[in-house]
Amino acid sequence: MSELHDECGVFGIFTNDASVNIVEETYLSLYALQHRGQVGAGIAVNNNGNIIYHKDFGMIPEALPERELLRLGSGRIAIGHVKYSSGEQVDHENLAPLVMRYIKGQLALCINGALTNYHELRNDLNQGAAIFQSNGDTEVIAYLIARARINTSSIEEAVRQAVCRLNGAYALVMMSPSKLIGVRDPMGIRPLCYGKIGSSYVIASESCVFDSMGGEFIRDIQPGEMLVIDSEGVHSYTDDCGGKTALCMFEYVFFSRPDSVVDGVSVNQARQRAGKLLAKQHPVEADIVCGVPDCGIESAIGYAMESGIPYATGLIKNKYIGRAFNDRKKNSEYLMRIKLNALKNNVNGKRVIVIDDSILKGKTSRHIVELLRNAGAKEIHMRIASPPFISPCYLNSDTTSKDKLIASTKSIDEMRDYMGADSLGFLSVESMREIAKESKLGFCDACFTGNYPMDVSDTSREDKYSRKIES
Ligand code: SF4
Repeated sequence: MSELHDECGVFGIFTNDASVNIVEETYLSLYALQHRGQVGAGIAVNNNGNIIYHKDFGMIPEALPERELLRLGSGRIAIGHVKYSSGEQVDHENLAPLVMRYIKGQLALCINGALTNYHELRNDLNQGAAIFQSNGDTEVIAYLIARARINTSSIEEAVRQAVCRLNGAYALVMMSPSKLIGVRDPMGIRPLCYGKIGSSYVIASESCVFDSMGGEFIRDIQPGEMLVIDSEGVHSYTDDCGGKTALCMFEYVFFSRPDSVVDGVSVNQARQRAGKLLAKQHPVEADIVCGVPDCGIESAIGYAMESGIPYATGLIKNKYIGRAFNDRKKNSEYLMRIKLNALKNNVNGKRVIVIDDSILKGKTSRHIVELLRNAGAKEIHMRIASPPFISPCYLNSDTTSKDKLIASTKSIDEMRDYMGADSLGFLSVESMREIAKESKLGFCDACFTGNYPMDVSDTSREDKYSRKIES
């Protein structure tokens, strides 16, 4: 149960078939992306150039109630978003999709990612008397597109000019009056793919959407590619492809769903491979192997397969905790107790290997060890299916500052003592790279190495937050 939070999820659909219930397709598809964000959700529908939208806080059923779905009506293009906070203050204006009116009509857009030159771009726009409603990256991108559109002959050219100014990680989905557009950043840090659901074309953060909806995955959108879908079909623009790539390693560790395939690599298999490599690197005698739900489970199965030690359920996660409860009890030990419990029958009197996906501050790990001890575990050997997390992520995820990351301030032995485990072992950086070797892309592993794939000096998470609130 990582202390790292999920990314956002983006979705877009285009249909030529008037009988398709586009709102329902978007709503159901967003369920398949719910794991990427639980702070808020939204849908925008384009009915002959008129965009109607609804967005609100909470998980999908709370944010998108039936009466609002009915109000959205019908259309040929729709986009949807599930949000997790990427550092900015989350008020209603920061929810997505963002819908704006400009010289060419309406435009709706949403993003998964974070700009590393946000301050520079926003200051530039401020000099031109731009007026912002939110403090998010999406509005900056919308402004850049609107400005570019004044002097360009097509939305494609305007989007291209705008994204050329962006630095950072982004998977963008947007709709103009007649087109659905998807853009993936030139390094491919955030995933984006497309396929079909029935006769409709769909762009989504993850391939699990197509399986969930009985659709067909076609391919990943290439790093730097812009995909435009209109009544004439699919058009690919690849002028910005071919540079250095750096897919986020954490998509395999934590962000993506195990039934997704990200850039040619099955997430489920990557996690099992991580568990197998962990068993080779950090063997220990024990009676059972268990995984911390959800993302530690597959790696625990891999560890059990490699070591021959039986896999057993040792921890049960409460999946029915909503946003209101999370908000009220944020970061409290009470919340951790409600979220996770040990299965006494399986761990009592046993030597237990427990596999988690990652450790940030270490509080959750300490809590897990305490739960297992209280349930009677004789020995607890903590194994982590990723390397020590030593550097903050500036490319989306909501990690804390470096000094709060336990691995940046403590040795392995000190961490083991802090959490009260009998032993502790992490996957090596080399093994981490090994788990996704079938991918054709290069990787970002900056949170494990401190080597960022781009200049991140314009932004630190705290700095971005405070300056945005002040501005
Ligand atoms: S720093 Fe870590 S979490 Fe952030 S993009 Fe890179 S690999 Fe992913």
